Amino acid sequence: MASKKGNLSINSENMFPIIKKWLYSDHDIFYREVISNACDAITKLKKMDMMGEYQLPDGFKPRVDVVLNDKDKTIKITDNGIGMTADEVEEYINQVAFSGATDFLNKYKDKANADQIIGHFGLGFYSTFMVSDSVDIDTLSYKGGTAVHWTCDGGSDFEMEDGTKAEVGTTVTLHLSEDCLEFCNEYKAREVIEKYCSFMPYEIYLSRENEEGTETIKASEKLDSDTVIEEVKPEKKEGEDKEPELQYKIKRRPQLLNDIHPLWAKTPKDCTDEEYKEFYRKVFRDYKEPLFWIHLNMDYPFNLKGILYFPKINMEFESIEGTIKLYNNQVFIADNIKEVIPEYLMLLKGVIDCPDLPLNVSRSALQNDGFVKKISEYISKKVAEKLAGLCKTDKENYDKYWDDISPFIKYGCLRDDKFCEKMTDYILFKNLDGKYLTTPEALQINKEAEEEAKKADAVDENGNKVEAEVVDGDNKAVDQKTEGDAAKADDAKDKEPRTIYYVTDEQQQSQYIKMFKAQKMEAFIMNHNIDVPFMEQLERKNEGIRFARIDADLTDTFKSRTSKKAAAELEEKGKDLSEMIKKALKNDKLNVKLEKLKDKKVASMLTVSEESRRMAEMMKMYAMNGMSMGDFGNEGQTLILNANHPLVEYIMEHKDGDNSKMIAEQLYDLARIQNAPLDAEAMTKFIARSNEIMMVLAK
Ligand code: ADP
Repeated sequence: MASKKGNLSINSENMFPIIKKWLYSDHDIFYREVISNACDAITKLKKMDMMGEYQLPDGFKPRVDVVLNDKDKTIKITDNGIGMTADEVEEYINQVAFSGATDFLNKYKDKANADQIIGHFGLGFYSTFMVSDSVDIDTLSYKGGTAVHWTCDGGSDFEMEDGTKAEVGTTVTLHLSEDCLEFCNEYKAREVIEKYCSFMPYEIYLSRENEEGTETIKASEKLDSDTVIEEVKPEKKEGEDKEPELQYKIKRRPQLLNDIHPLWAKTPKDCTDEEYKEFYRKVFRDYKEPLFWIHLNMDYPFNLKGILYFPKINMEFESIEGTIKLYNNQVFIADNIKEVIPEYLMLLKGVIDCPDLPLNVSRSALQNDGFVKKISEYISKKVAEKLAGLCKTDKENYDKYWDDISPFIKYGCLRDDKFCEKMTDYILFKNLDGKYLTTPEALQINKEAEEEAKKADAVDENGNKVEAEVVDGDNKAVDQKTEGDAAKADDAKDKEPRTIYYVTDEQQQSQYIKMFKAQKMEAFIMNHNIDVPFMEQLERKNEGIRFARIDADLTDTFKSRTSKKAAAELEEKGKDLSEMIKKALKNDKLNVKLEKLKDKKVASMLTVSEESRRMAEMMKMYAMNGMSMGDFGNEGQTLILNANHPLVEYIMEHKDGDNSKMIAEQLYDLARIQNAPLDAEAMTKFIARSNEIMMVLAK
């Protein structure tokens, strides 16, 4: 071939300066582009062999060599792939690649933000000009013919002539520009190649052309490719009669940088736990063992493989931050692409390889891509299935993991309604004894205690049994109707919303806990920041689930049963008492209720309606931002006075008595203390009053 000079027939003279500037933020990406082209070229050659159009030489070992030379300031990337003929260089490099790059620039030059683009695929080979003054290609096609030497200085002119390459394949030589010399530093090169090419499908070796380094090997380990510097004959050790093996001092061998069989590409049943853990350590450099993992492996309707790890986290001291690495056919694309991976899974660590992803488009296009959305849904579904499976078949471990994984799951439920639906039955609630119950279990756990309370023989205030005339409506219904109807009524009851009681502060709510326990009722600990929005989400999505803090209302379980007549009387008395208490406390707004509590030692207690309390908590958050709350915090509070307690009886009988006001105040404060700390002023008064009361005793 006569030497050929040409013009790259494109109209943007200054294309390279644009490429350079535009991709500045990650111009190390050229390594990925050239090495993945090299791998593609090998795949193509193997295909030709398979199709019978070419015969691979005996002992063919596909490989890519990256050779650095910091004296000459070059990087050479050599593959033993398919190579190119002169026509192909003309077509793929001079025309196609250039026009591809021009199209690419025209399309995206207005969105001059490199972060919007992922992959940069299609720009491929020309990304080398981001770091080079000039680039050479030396290539010999598998078809034979003459080798080609092509060179281009980064303007729009190239030169092409016969080359000297003797083996089939391609060498791309980068003559680095002065400001990019770091890329021929061995450590930098290794770092970048490991970042992008750790799992590429053919072996990648790194070496230095002007390397002085040597290593000594046993003669039996010598390879044909080793450059022997000298033979070394080790001294015979005393007492040994065998001659020691001959050794060679050789030029340091090229270093293998990648793992061509990443674990995710294997069939899950062939992978051992140790392999999963090892892979995790290597890829994420996290030496804490992951809790467990999910191996995704799917061929239809799209291709997706990957491993997601649930890391062990330490909630107190670490922010939860995961990494999901995205690959396209074993070529690393980027970390944490939120369009592909559901946001809440970003808290995990993992790898996803999806060859079908359209990665040469902008991120905004990814967002609207139906296919990408399907991938995201698939991943989410698989995670839910794995967790559900674990809960069903290995509850013991699921319990153990729960504290670590619950933030992921709860966050996922908030973010993704479908995930929430799938997970609802596999949410765990930790009871006060540290036992974990699933949602259905937690919903049912108090049913018995509640029914027991209804069944138990009622006793009125005079100690007489109350059987015929029960106040409770449900029981009456069951009494009067036939069995079939009763069953139906039971059915309907199952569909009625049930309440899961929870505790946010075991110490503060201990009085209520004591009452709960006495009635064999269970409550669950919900003390994480995410729990409030999470409970609200479950309530929103499930008509049958309600949450109430343990101090929210007084369930029937805590009240003694009374006859209708007695209940009416109690209500009347309550009205009177309420007036008196309000006057004594100088608080018109306070709700006061007289109840007969089973626990005869409790004189007074406070309940705070769940709704008002949640509202108040929300207001408090606003208040922290400087908004005033007024006395909003006290709304929804009810002071319960126990008609079964002698102190309450006393003030009912001595409404205008000297001590009644003081007793009323004290009962109110005692109720408040059981619920929340008193403010400074109330505390001072409480202490003074307590002393006064003791003075009465001392008289
Ligand atoms: P892309 O890889 O996206 O097609 P590139 O600009 O990277 O775009 O490469 C253009 C074309 O040049 C490739 O499609 C391929 O046909 C050819 N090519 C590039 N590098 C090599 C190589 N090492 N061996 C053989 N052909 C190559």
